[in-house]
Amino acid sequence: MSIKRFITAIFISLILSGLGLIPQEPETWQVISLDLEHVPLRQLAGLGLDILMQKERRLYIVSSPQDRMRLGEAGLPFRPELAFSGRPAAVSSSAGGGLNGDYHSYSELEADLRALEAGHPGLAKVYDIGRSLEGRSLYALKISDNVGVSEPEAQVLFLGCHHAREWISVEVPFLLGEFLLINYLTDSRVRDIVDRSEVWLVPLVNPDGLEYSIHVYRYWRKNRRDNGDGSFGVDLNRNYGYEWGYDNSGSSPTPESAVYRGPAAFSERETAAVRDLFLRSNFQALVSYHSFSQVIYYPWGYSRQPVENAERMKGLAAGMAQHILEVAGTVYRQGQSSLLSYLTNGDTTDWAFGLYGIPAYTIELEPPSEGQGGFFNAESEIRPIFNDNLPAALTLIEDCISRYVPPVSENGRAGQARRLIAREARIR
Ligand SMILES: [Zn+2]
Repeated sequence: MSIKRFITAIFISLILSGLGLIPQEPETWQVISLDLEHVPLRQLAGLGLDILMQKERRLYIVSSPQDRMRLGEAGLPFRPELAFSGRPAAVSSSAGGGLNGDYHSYSELEADLRALEAGHPGLAKVYDIGRSLEGRSLYALKISDNVGVSEPEAQVLFLGCHHAREWISVEVPFLLGEFLLINYLTDSRVRDIVDRSEVWLVPLVNPDGLEYSIHVYRYWRKNRRDNGDGSFGVDLNRNYGYEWGYDNSGSSPTPESAVYRGPAAFSERETAAVRDLFLRSNFQALVSYHSFSQVIYYPWGYSRQPVENAERMKGLAAGMAQHILEVAGTVYRQGQSSLLSYLTNGDTTDWAFGLYGIPAYTIELEPPSEGQGGFFNAESEIRPIFNDNLPAALTLIEDCISRYVPPVSENGRAGQARRLIAREARIR
């Protein structure tokens, strides 16, 4: 390389790194694929791999150097998928400002939640329900009439972004809140919902991870805990306290694994914040948005045993899939997560259903596959994906309203909370 080209290259890389455009881990993390004709799935169980998808007879994995070393040691052949390396082009740096375009960064979400609160006094209130390791607030937005008062009304919780790279999962719950507030005065269905329920939204459970995904490494999944062994991050959707660490297929005890469950149930501030919000509330249903694959999952994830006495939960899942289909013909499958997908333990929905007995869903948003964009939804897809999911969310809230029975007294409610805490203490 000539001196001139060398200097130009340095100059360009300085500019790019100043803009945060050079991921710091481009050569360490890599999407690879394995041929399932030659590598049986059972041989991969227990390796704690970060599985992206299965397409035809190939399994696609986001791999660390350690993953690739273990595969090599086990004699399991794989090939790099260069098409997935580098920074995705789906996001412009235009409209919404910032590196992640129209998607929310942490500070943009903070500002927009505050703006909703300021623009809709009496209907919207922002709560700071915890603090991440890097010092970011974990925000919940409550929407209800008389929002400053805890009324005897059905409460429904919508969560987003347990997994850092699933940017669309921030947008759907945020837009749900915005929709309810903007349309309150003009839409009688919305007014009825807001008057008769308390809708809680936590669009960004994992702010440290999201920022890392925006600025450093787009495929980042976990939070940013320093595990002390050179690895970072706990998989927040393996850190909840119902059958936590049940086996090493549904989560991993290995810190550098993408599905590392952490040193103990609720060891992480983010999951503890969700748990504590439950203890102060009386949620009747829960949706946790993730991406991607267009599926509505319900428990169990930890076991292939069917959930018992869950006809309502199954019926609601079928109903939600139908509502999504009716918007624009988008097909979401639905079913028990351990049967439709792979085993997971310590996830949000097993905990919410196992402990509180409420309908609890993981909704994996669009697209259906890696080949159709995977984690990289174009900015122009944000609104259509929200539109697809809106009637399903509204119907779930309405179902909770129609079945809601107010507690006999506040005493009764406090007593119920105490019993639940005692019950939780018994669960490992
Ligand atoms: Zn996820």
